[in-house]
Amino acid sequence: MLIEFTDRGLYCRQGEFYIDPWKPVEAAVITHAHSDHARPGNNNYLCHDRTLPLLRLRLGENNYQSVPWNETTFRNGVKISLHPAGHIIGSSQVRVEYAGEVWVVSGDYKTENDHISGAFEPVKCHHFVTESTFGLPIYNWASQKEQYQLVQNWVQQNHENGITSVLYAYSLGKSQRIIKAVGELGLPIYAHGAVANVQEVLRNDGWDFPLVRRVTKDIPSEHIRGNIVIAPGSAENSPWTRRFAPYKTAVCSGWMQVRGNFRRRNTDAGFPISDHADWQGLLDTIKLISPEKVYVTHGFQSVFSRYLNESGINAAEVKTEFGTEEEVATTEQTDEV
Ligand SMILES: [Zn+2]
Ligand SMILES: [Zn+2]
Repeated sequence: MLIEFTDRGLYCRQGEFYIDPWKPVEAAVITHAHSDHARPGNNNYLCHDRTLPLLRLRLGENNYQSVPWNETTFRNGVKISLHPAGHIIGSSQVRVEYAGEVWVVSGDYKTENDHISGAFEPVKCHHFVTESTFGLPIYNWASQKEQYQLVQNWVQQNHENGITSVLYAYSLGKSQRIIKAVGELGLPIYAHGAVANVQEVLRNDGWDFPLVRRVTKDIPSEHIRGNIVIAPGSAENSPWTRRFAPYKTAVCSGWMQVRGNFRRRNTDAGFPISDHADWQGLLDTIKLISPEKVYVTHGFQSVFSRYLNESGINAAEVKTEFGTEEEVATTEQTDEV
């Protein structure tokens, strides 16, 4: 097998590198900058050009090498190239080829184009390693246009009532999409430090997002009232949020599609907006690629791999240490101002 599943992560023995390892290794190829896929402690990191500033933000200085999509690099005769995964900025699938055998490791992916992350590219291969975060039939997303419209309507209505809209979204990925969507309303947007830090890095990297102001103690509360605040989920029900009274809260996450998840969280609204493929997106992708074998990782891997096998697609379940939450809050501090 060109890629092995080891206790450190997905390993290419011939090329002597790991893909998104969860324990420190010599050489790591990183699909994207989320903390469960990009971990500290590796000696070398290979990633996409747009991922590089985000890795610097989260992991500090390291030996980084970055490449654009579709550019081939070699490791000990193994051909490596990155291809858009459509999940977050810079997110990439890793294509690995040696002696005529082709593997693609998806990392996390989203099939609908959000016009920020790059359009997902189905890449032909013999072996496809897929995520399955939302690999249940109950997860089927409305179109992005409809999703954004609901958020905009909610914010606009709050604004007209002098109520601040606090939107909880993962600081890297979801927040950028929400900022772009609510930016169309022309209202001032304020952000928690975790979100503001990401926006700052992206602005320095040449991205053009609507202006976002960092929430600090100096900003008079009447400036924020009736406007928009973007914060990571870890700020939910915290004193940090309560300062914005009168406010309403909304969680932006694929998990919000299920009513039980919505009720468990003490929030006024829930918008099922996800950076992952839904059930149909996963299936369509696999049918399009039609690999010899599918390896199903983090998410509903047993349900999804069983379904694939019953549909005549050769699939196996693989245990990994990637998170299945959309909001892995480890790097998101709420005790900032
Ligand atoms: Zn991710
Ligand atoms: Zn993941």
